[in-house]
Amino acid sequence: MIETDPSTTVDPASPGPVLLAGELAEAVVDHEAVAANVRALRDSAGTRLMAVVKADAFGHGAVPVARTCLAAGASWLGVTRVSEALELRRAGIAAPVLAWLFEPARAEEAVAADVDLSVSSPVDLAAVARATGRARIHLKLDTGLHRSGCPGEDWARLVSAAAALESAGRVRVAGLWSHLSHGGEPDAVATHRQLLMFRVGVDLARAAGLRPEVVHLANTAAVQTNSRHTAYDLVRVGAGIYGIGDGLRPALTLRTRVVQVRHVAAGRGVGYDHLGRTTRDTHLALVPLGYADGLPRAATGRASVWVGGRRAPLIGRVCMDQVVADVGPEPVAVGTEVLVLGAGDRGEPTARDWARWAGTNEHEIYTGIGARVARRHVGGAHGIAVPGVGTEER
Ligand SMILES: *Cc1c(COP(=O)(O)O)cnc(C)c1O
Repeated sequence: MIETDPSTTVDPASPGPVLLAGELAEAVVDHEAVAANVRALRDSAGTRLMAVVKADAFGHGAVPVARTCLAAGASWLGVTRVSEALELRRAGIAAPVLAWLFEPARAEEAVAADVDLSVSSPVDLAAVARATGRARIHLKLDTGLHRSGCPGEDWARLVSAAAALESAGRVRVAGLWSHLSHGGEPDAVATHRQLLMFRVGVDLARAAGLRPEVVHLANTAAVQTNSRHTAYDLVRVGAGIYGIGDGLRPALTLRTRVVQVRHVAAGRGVGYDHLGRTTRDTHLALVPLGYADGLPRAATGRASVWVGGRRAPLIGRVCMDQVVADVGPEPVAVGTEVLVLGAGDRGEPTARDWARWAGTNEHEIYTGIGARVARRHVGGAHGIAVPGVGTEER
């Protein structure tokens, strides 16, 4: 076991030492969990894996998560915006990166940084062909999500225009792709329609002379439920990396500490509009996180946190910066660790619990964690090795 400084490390799986000096709250990202999720998903898919690190890796930290995913066997990275791709390049990451929200004003920059771009129309295609150098592009067919991509009726025109530009040395069509509307429903009529249309679209592109390096369709849910028909050459996996999905491990623990404790008699109103009311003689613990930090206001009246070895319901409204936990007749000490969400091993709520309380999904819970929350990376080659989390222990 290695020596660790308790003031700068934390074990999210056991009652931890104090938080990093000066930080009121932190999101601890367990890179062992990220790596294990990548390996499990790649095994299920049986193909190459693109780690989707958009939106700062769903709030987990794009650059460190990207490095861990690549070390664990991912061979591509996927993001939405060019700025996100450039952040990866600035960090020295050289793996193939696809940015799929087409931004004509940033095509030049993206091509210069060797970032692959998604193209959905002849107008997009003309914009990338104007960029200096040879743009690497992925042609996107809209097979039924109706969000972005080339409509079916325009596809033949798009692929032949792309083939002509490729012959002229202006672009390289590196990929053909689409996105599913019901990734987790292999038997949905919509899925069958999309699979059929995609197959026809890929055939048309090949007939036009295109020879893409990768054809890709599946997201996490499709990998988990239908990899046989959706995996192609590459799967684009976001949610699963972070532990959203069956049999995967949540990687992020959001923790803070109690900053104040008070005794309050039964029947007292708590917080704005006195929405909460004590039902017994109790102790209220002030927890310094609120909706600005990602605790959804919509979870008011349903949420709880893990503090002092027990689940304590939040009482009153979720405020912008603070919430109040009703810890019961036995007080907790100021400074006691509060687990707001995590993998659930110690009894703390999970992102799925928060999503249920707020009527949303885990993705929104993770991406909502605010900038005031420090990110700390532990475990694996790219985090700080700590007992119980680092590779030394396994
Ligand atoms: C977010 C996203 C993905 C990843 O989907 P998950 O369900 O998070 O695995 C894949 N493709 C596109 C186009 C996306 O926007």
